Amino acid sequence: MVTQSRPTVGRNWWKTIGLLLWTIGSNAALAQTPATPTPPAESKKGAFVTAAHSDSTEGLHWFKGNLHTHSFWSDGNDFPEMIAAWYKDHGYHFLALSDHNVLSEGQRWIDEEEIHRRTQEDAIGKYRDRFGERWVEERKNPDTGHRQVRLKPLHEFGPLLNEAGRFLMLTGEEISDRAEGKPVHMNATNLQERIDPVGGVTVREALINNLRQVLEQERRLGRLILPHINHPNFGYALTAEDLAAVVEEQFFEVYNGHPGVNHLGDEQHMSVEQMWDLANAIRLSQLNAPPLYGLATDDSHNYHGINGASPGRGWVMVQAAFLTPEHLITALRSGHFYASSGVSLRAVRFDETSRTLTLEMPSEEGTEYTTQFIATLSPEAAGALPAADRIGIVVAEQQGNVATYTLTGTELYVRAVVTSSRPHPNPSYDGQRQQAWTQPVGWTLPPPN
Ligand SMILES: [Zn+2]
Ligand SMILES: [Zn+2]
Repeated sequence: MVTQSRPTVGRNWWKTIGLLLWTIGSNAALAQTPATPTPPAESKKGAFVTAAHSDSTEGLHWFKGNLHTHSFWSDGNDFPEMIAAWYKDHGYHFLALSDHNVLSEGQRWIDEEEIHRRTQEDAIGKYRDRFGERWVEERKNPDTGHRQVRLKPLHEFGPLLNEAGRFLMLTGEEISDRAEGKPVHMNATNLQERIDPVGGVTVREALINNLRQVLEQERRLGRLILPHINHPNFGYALTAEDLAAVVEEQFFEVYNGHPGVNHLGDEQHMSVEQMWDLANAIRLSQLNAPPLYGLATDDSHNYHGINGASPGRGWVMVQAAFLTPEHLITALRSGHFYASSGVSLRAVRFDETSRTLTLEMPSEEGTEYTTQFIATLSPEAAGALPAADRIGIVVAEQQGNVATYTLTGTELYVRAVVTSSRPHPNPSYDGQRQQAWTQPVGWTLPPPN
């Protein structure tokens, strides 16, 4: 059996980090100087400073959701309401369809031949079985003569599946751009109008330009819209420095269930989790910017069999009072969530007074949990330590159903990752274990000038 461990830190890319930490300041100016709209003040500072898990949990519920999903509206291989039904049947509370550069709206027909080519299955038959003859609309295309099935827009099928407090469909788009020959993908959840990717000279500029459009729509339409950066190691498109520099972005995918996203990196590239720590080290120690929070998503494309990017691998558990887009997004922005690839947590608490992070895992016959507390040391505490010994280091490792860590005052932040002894039932990479990632806590920002 292959054991998944954090890759060793002795790789080549660490040698360049010391230099990068000094140069990132000037690059980051790119992100800060343009006339970018400022997100609501309360989401920037005070709320973040006391982030996460210290409030009473009375009246709050855990809601399970996936924010990254593809359907026939772009390159996924099932009807959107079939996909929504899969997630609802599997205990999810919310789902965002996030097709490439399109919202599920307007008139759209898909050729039956194309359906068969993509699914190699009787997908239309399954669709009929689930929703009935009267629901499925077919026609012969008047121009081509091809048999076609209509793709329903979200506003038509959403009401069939939505249920107060039980299941909620959200709008979404994967703003799918390219720069420097690399894919630059960013999701927007709960948007109202489609956003066209606008590109940029560099990948970083493309990220900033597209993020700016999301923030502009949020402000103009007066609705909460959640942007997040997708699969940074897909095509090795983004670096930790890119993630750090886009300071108005608060979210990225620490786990994406698509098998092609290079979750663990390689000899030349750090793992996605290591990028998270380096990006947050830069943000907190150089840019006075809040850390990135980590989401887990499916990026599901394939719904017939378990091959490819199948659903059910990555999700977020959000602690909120109500199952509405606004409550979910507000809870995510406050850090009241964790990311999971299979591990459920009974509780996550950060006590501000004692500066103690506590996790509780459910008791399950035959499952053992290992919790690693991962921190980055403050520049004062780290002194002349090399980057590998101060960024994203394991400060404690505990076995069992309760894990706890009290900050010593030397950390910029601490976060926890829980790994189950159980292998993943449908792994996206070799040797994958089921895991959960909690958000960085214990960090502070200097007061605004
Ligand atoms: Zn993508
Ligand atoms: Zn995607």
